[in-house]
Amino acid sequence: KQYTKETIRQLIQDENVEFLRLQFSDVFGSIKNVEVPISQLEKVLDNKVMFDGSSIEGFVRIEESDMYLYPDLDTFMIFPWATDSHGGKVARLICDIYNVDREPFIGDPRSNLKRVLKDMENMGYSNFNLGTEPEFFLFKMDEFGNPTTKLNDKGGYFDLAPLDLGENTRREMVLEMEKMGFEVEAAHHEVAPGQHEVDFKYADALEAADNIQTFKLIVKTIARKHNLYATFMPKPVSGINGNGMHVNMSLFKDGQNVFFDEKGEEQLSETAYNFLGGILEHAQNFTAVTNPTVNSYKRLTPGFEAPVYIAWSGSNRSPMVRVPASRGQSTRLELRSVDPTANPYLAFAAILESGLDGIEHKMTPNDSVDQNIYLMDETERRKAGIRDLPDTLLAAVNDLEGDDVVKKALGSYMARTFIDAKRLEYGSYRQEVSQWELDNYLEQY
Ligand code: ADP
Ligand code: GLU
Ligand code: MG
Ligand code: MG
Repeated sequence: KQYTKETIRQLIQDENVEFLRLQFSDVFGSIKNVEVPISQLEKVLDNKVMFDGSSIEGFVRIEESDMYLYPDLDTFMIFPWATDSHGGKVARLICDIYNVDREPFIGDPRSNLKRVLKDMENMGYSNFNLGTEPEFFLFKMDEFGNPTTKLNDKGGYFDLAPLDLGENTRREMVLEMEKMGFEVEAAHHEVAPGQHEVDFKYADALEAADNIQTFKLIVKTIARKHNLYATFMPKPVSGINGNGMHVNMSLFKDGQNVFFDEKGEEQLSETAYNFLGGILEHAQNFTAVTNPTVNSYKRLTPGFEAPVYIAWSGSNRSPMVRVPASRGQSTRLELRSVDPTANPYLAFAAILESGLDGIEHKMTPNDSVDQNIYLMDETERRKAGIRDLPDTLLAAVNDLEGDDVVKKALGSYMARTFIDAKRLEYGSYRQEVSQWELDNYLEQY
């Protein structure tokens, strides 16, 4: 891409852009934006736009609330669908957040990922490539335009439904994505009724995280146009598959995939095994980051193609890490535990830091598990060195607190904010009495 101030000025004029959205993400991964009229363009390009950070959850205290938005010019994009009342277009720029003293703000997940990527470069690697597979459900809306949990179709994996709302909606999402510069590789109906997946080409970590945020915006916007509600919630309906966001990853050095080694075992390099070793070592502790909601742990249960145990395999899909069969430049590890409620900037930082720790300390993974883990009993699993993923948000947060490598990936400020906020979230959930409890206990006791 490589936009300059000049090309952006030109595009804005040619395309009649009247508003600019300056986007960033908070610690919880929600997209925030400040919208400015195009008269403010020069101020935007000169990093002079300020906002009040104290109103953003997980950001700063009142006395130091003024922050600057530094746009990343390469993220410039004109929304194909948004127009203002004059028919003018709306464009966006994704921004980094800087303090008044013009240093990157330590509570900004995007600047933080850049910091971790710098550490990676210092170790001699040039790119951390990520291809994600975010899944989502399409639900019907009620007469007032509120989401329901009524699924909009009965389809299953790769079904070719009769021309239903889901199929048309998904097609339009893909078309809009292409207009916005995504290279869409595949789109298909997922296993559960009403569930879909769109896969787009991998990119370097920062762009991959930006892409996820943009993708969610597109999916939700287009679904609404079709009177449907799109949700990335991990387990909106019990008893059927949940929404995962598999993360395919590889490390590159000077344009070459360093996970590939023609002569290595399974044609994987020493580096790939060490990186995998680091992922397995820290998985239990980064799960709070990759699966950050109470609901995330309702997806990580047996029987729905989501992982429950910390193990890897080349051939089957039940373990947490799978090594897809492709080799050469496509050699990659697929981490299957992540769900789409993860803040992608924080999740990628935590995963990368864990993998790099594995390289630095030459960690080696346990043997791969090529049988169905769900048919092994606990003794067999322990003998094979297979540990469990945390089973609640609280357990996951406690694990995170004990891992200095994962905390380093978030930076001490965000690690603290994140841990405190997630404990509160769990505490609030714990006080609620669920339908399950009423069904099982009300009459029995
Ligand atoms: P699955 O086998 O799980 O269905 P998909 O084909 O749906 O996998 O998705 C594969 C993802 O992996 C895509 O996003 C693709 O761009 C990405 N990918 C391919 N090569 C690499 C690589 N070298 N590094 C990271 N991601 C990659
Ligand atoms: N929906 C499954 C999950 O929760 C993944 C299905 C698949 O293999 O694509 O992770
Ligand atoms: Mg899938
Ligand atoms: Mg996959």
